Amino acid sequence: MTDDVRLRELHDNLRAVRRRISAACAAAGRSADEITLVAISKTWPASDVLRLHSLGVTDFGESYDQEASAKAASLAAMGCRPTWHFVGRLQRNKCASIARYADLVHAVDRPELVDALSAGASRAGRTVGVLLQVSLDGDTGRGGAAADDVRALADKAAGAAGLTLRGVMAVAPLSADPGDAFAALADIAAGLRTAHPRADVVSAGMSNDLEEAIANGATCVRVGTALFGRRAHALH
Ligand SMILES: *Cc1c(COP(=O)(O)O)cnc(C)c1O
Repeated sequence: MTDDVRLRELHDNLRAVRRRISAACAAAGRSADEITLVAISKTWPASDVLRLHSLGVTDFGESYDQEASAKAASLAAMGCRPTWHFVGRLQRNKCASIARYADLVHAVDRPELVDALSAGASRAGRTVGVLLQVSLDGDTGRGGAAADDVRALADKAAGAAGLTLRGVMAVAPLSADPGDAFAALADIAAGLRTAHPRADVVSAGMSNDLEEAIANGATCVRVGTALFGRRAHALH
């Protein structure tokens, strides 16, 4: 019974998010097919991933390696193999583990992380997609490479064994207008594509700002709260 209630809740939330994506695409003259919805399932149980997967969501994102690896393994044991995105801050000593289950790693922002993911992917016999996180306010303390460093990092990732450079990712700065920040990200993404034409993923936009992200060319939105509800822990 509880299951039915949660399934209906997730169904309704998903419908509302899909409508927001469609409306934002229509306003921007884009097709909703251009947007990948990544359901950010951190702190939520594998059973919720299973429910959303049954409703047609194909992509899920996590931020903590221990939680993510356990969830991916328990779902795989049930025959559920969605596309897994790792969207959290990366630590070098977690990269080998992440490379074993993640299909796309969003927050690569330092050369040493490229090396660690490349070594992990090679050892696991996998190919892992990489997005370069860009800092949009110059405050690299919150993660993200400075815009000037993106090109060199891209060349390194593109040449690394076991990795495929797929594009860029950003989190809107706390202080600036998200639309302006996402427009700056779009410029950086376009510059990157002149050297790496197939690196065409732009991961931007979360529950509160997905419209601004889609208006500015995002191809991948990362939505947690609007799908699953409020997370219990402030830290997450
Ligand atoms: C948690 C998280 C999200 C989801 O945020 P919501 O506001 O819950 O939609 C998106 N991106 C990253 C990097 C996150 O850590």
